[in-house]
Amino acid sequence: MTFENLNLIEPILKALKTEGYSNPTPIQAKSIPLILQERDLLGCAQTGTGKTAAFSIPILQLLHGQQSTEGRGKRPIKSLILTPTRELALQIGESMESYGKHTGLKSTVIFGGVPQRKQTDALRAGVDILIATPGRLLDLMSQKYVDLQHLQIFVLDEADRMLDMGFVNDVKKVLKVLPEKKQSLFFSATMAPEIMKLADTILVDPAKVEV
Ligand code: AMP
Repeated sequence: MTFENLNLIEPILKALKTEGYSNPTPIQAKSIPLILQERDLLGCAQTGTGKTAAFSIPILQLLHGQQSTEGRGKRPIKSLILTPTRELALQIGESMESYGKHTGLKSTVIFGGVPQRKQTDALRAGVDILIATPGRLLDLMSQKYVDLQHLQIFVLDEADRMLDMGFVNDVKKVLKVLPEKKQSLFFSATMAPEIMKLADTILVDPAKVEV
């Protein structure tokens, strides 16, 4: 299996080559085709399996395909990736930048514990893909810096850690403002009953991937 076999577009293949990736990992080989078909996905995978690229690459490809139909106005946020910690958010942000560097898509990362100014400047300039921790996201949403009305793809990353860290109510508050019609991707290292319950409230007829 190669990335070419997954029908990825040239701007992404080129970036993966630069990264030195020659073959997709198992979670990537299984998830990328399902996400490109616009299916909801329940992924059981730990950090270190290549999970970040498994959702970042197809999100970039799906959104890249739409850019030509966009007008001149400010780009609306089309994908939100919710993750529990600043470190994970930064890692996802770096990956998204690397894989997406030839796509023309913009991403930014927001998290708490730092002044908000740089983050709000980036949001004001317009981003396609927002990577966020729950607290800062809700904070900037309440200040009207974040508009999720045009969201198409939602990712809940590390759902089990999200629950362990007590973010379940914050996640639910975010879910409430998302458009009903969207693609949702849910990743967790474990699938305990309370995780499955949360997944059930988010996903519609999900494809299931385990590694
Ligand atoms: P993750 O599980 O998303 O935290 O990724 C773990 C590490 O694997 C990261 O350092 C990635 O850069 C790397 N990685 C992800 N996919 C591939 C791949 N297909 N080939 C080689 N390295 C990869």
